[in-house]
Amino acid sequence: MTPRLFVLSGPSGVGKTTIVRAVLERIGNLEFSVSCTTRPPRAGEREGVDYYFISPQQFAALVRAGQFLEHAWVYGHRYGTPLAEVEQRLQRGKSVLLDIDTQGAAAVHRRRARLGFPTSFIFVLPPSREELLRRLEGRKSETVEELRRRLEEAWEQTAAGMWFDYLVINRHLEEAISWVTRLIRLELLG
Ligand code: 5GP
Repeated sequence: MTPRLFVLSGPSGVGKTTIVRAVLERIGNLEFSVSCTTRPPRAGEREGVDYYFISPQQFAALVRAGQFLEHAWVYGHRYGTPLAEVEQRLQRGKSVLLDIDTQGAAAVHRRRARLGFPTSFIFVLPPSREELLRRLEGRKSETVEELRRRLEEAWEQTAAGMWFDYLVINRHLEEAISWVTRLIRLELLG
C-alpha cells in the first residue's frame, strides 16, 4: 500500500478536529502531522500533541530555513506544517493526515506534482451558515469579536473548497466521520 498524504480542510468550527481524531482511531496506518503555531495554547492543549507552540521569531526562522511544507496566517496567528513531520512518516511507510486551513491546502495543492508522494484533498462543509455560527458559539473558546471574525472568514472559506477531490458535508458527525474514513480507505487501496 503506497503511503499517501491526506489534506483535510474546511472552515473553522465545521468539526474538522473531531473528525480527524475519530478517523485516526479507525485507520491504523494513518498518522497526524503536528503543526507549528504562534497562537497561545488553549486549555487542555498539549505541546507536541495538538501543536508545537512557538514564538513569532522561531516561526519566522523556520520559514527562512524552508522547513515548512506550507504556512499561512489564520485569524491573526501563523500556522505551518513542518516538512520533516510529513516526510519522516511517509518514509516509514505511514500515511499522513493534515488538518489545515484552505490557504494551506491550496499551497500543498500547488506543490503536489513536486512532492514525490500522492496526495488527496478532502473538504468538510457545514450544512448552513446558521449551523456554522451555532457550532462556533458552542466552542466558547473565543471572544465575541474573534467569533465574528472567524464566522466571516469561515463562511468565505466554505465557498473556496470547490477544487478539492472530495467534499463532505458535516450534517451528522458520525456520518461525516464514516464518509471520511471510507474515502481514505478507498484511496489507500489504490
Ligand atoms: P485552531 O486555532 O482553531 O486550532 O486552528 C485554526 C485553523 O488553523 C484551523 O482551520 C486549522 O485547520 C488551521 N491550521 C492548523 N494547523 C495548520 C497548519 O499547519 N497550516 C495551516 N495553513 N493551517 C493550519
